[in-house]
Amino acid sequence: MNGDPRRALPKMDVVLAHPWITEQMHLCGRPLVAEVARRALDLAREGLAEGQPLPSLDDIAQTVTTSVTALTSGRIRAVINATGVVLHTNLGRAPLSDAAREAVTAAAGYSTVEFDLQTGGRGKRGTTANLLLRELTGAPACLAVNNAAAALLLALNALARDREVVVSRGELVEIGGEFRIPAIMEAAGVKLVEVGSTNRTHLSDYVDAISERTALLMVVHPSNYRIEGFTAQPPLTDLVDLARKTGVPLLHDIGSGLLHGQMGDEPTLEDSLRAEVDLAVFSGDKLFGGPQAGLIVGRSDLVQRLARHPVARAVRIDKLTLAALEATLLSHLSGRLEELPIWRMLNLSPQDLRIRAEQMADGLGRAASLREGAGVVGGGSLPGERLPSVLVEIDPQPMSETAFVAGLRAADPPVIARAEKGRVLVDLRTVPPEEDGRLLRILRDALTADA
Ligand SMILES: *Cc1c(COP(=O)(O)O)cnc(C)c1O
Repeated sequence: MNGDPRRALPKMDVVLAHPWITEQMHLCGRPLVAEVARRALDLAREGLAEGQPLPSLDDIAQTVTTSVTALTSGRIRAVINATGVVLHTNLGRAPLSDAAREAVTAAAGYSTVEFDLQTGGRGKRGTTANLLLRELTGAPACLAVNNAAAALLLALNALARDREVVVSRGELVEIGGEFRIPAIMEAAGVKLVEVGSTNRTHLSDYVDAISERTALLMVVHPSNYRIEGFTAQPPLTDLVDLARKTGVPLLHDIGSGLLHGQMGDEPTLEDSLRAEVDLAVFSGDKLFGGPQAGLIVGRSDLVQRLARHPVARAVRIDKLTLAALEATLLSHLSGRLEELPIWRMLNLSPQDLRIRAEQMADGLGRAASLREGAGVVGGGSLPGERLPSVLVEIDPQPMSETAFVAGLRAADPPVIARAEKGRVLVDLRTVPPEEDGRLLRILRDALTADA
């Protein structure tokens, strides 16, 4: 062929008729694939002008397929979490209960988000969740918003904008990614007054910091780290007394949403309410076991002010979250905590796990053995606390452990497991028992993939 080599490039309609491309069109539709193909042909044309060789039709189809796949491959997918990290931040923290999943599905269509079936008129979003939350906690008033960071933003902005908020220096924490307490305070337009030192803060530090400019005392649970040794922080009850004497409200960010009972040194909502903090904020997932949401409980006048504030509209709870939250609240209220996956997982004993791990190891043959180990709660809750477990330890030879876990991530569904010193560790605590069979097949396939 002579003349312009660009004329030798496959025509668009020929590219779009290639079987790899038609397959992509089934998945993503014609316009998207055609656009990606157009760009690939443009690039090839530029390449030719610069003297690069003429790509074949298959080369171009391959480029288009790779680009389209890259566009969609990052979609949210269900995975098997075999890490033993119960509230895995990168895997969505708390998995929802069956009831919550059904509620989400129901709410996904037309639903009574803001509709009153009795009157046929407008209803108020979140009424039921707020009522259930009040029954559950015994708090005078409740408000559910989008997430805990949003709850803080709202409370700070509504109650303390352009005024001072007193916080202990040891509580100016970063909780995952971009969430830093001082940054939230700045975004809320409040002036941070740090008191005490990183490890020790005394009641007198708070007393000295309070002036007519003070709008709020804030206590934040430093969820994801622990200061040990020479430390001091006044008891919550002393801070509440100070709040009463000075007329400055106290806001308590509890973090994980543990209602009562004992788990490490997690603060509980019960203790916070018993101390009579003015407002408490906690997460709807984490140890509460529901969807990510910001739950605000406390004094009616303050909750009212938050509910009526314009920021409340900007951080309002979405219908899917609300549906999942209502179902989760009912599990708590009915005392059926075992409906919540995280509670089932947290309560599994090493003996429970050993039975399943043995079956898994038997199914895998010589490559697998059992090993004692531990999972963690995760999600920035209970740092340093370990969940004793019996792990399946896999020797992926001749594969490297990194190649093996990469293969597991490429499985359908993807499996996320820990790689450690030439071995791959599977902790069944975070795997629903009904998934054991599927996990075993995926592990077996991955082991034989290269053999
Ligand atoms: C997790 C946590 C938050 C943030 O919760 P999100 O739901 O992720 O916004 C805020 N404060 C504390 C103390 C936390 O532990």
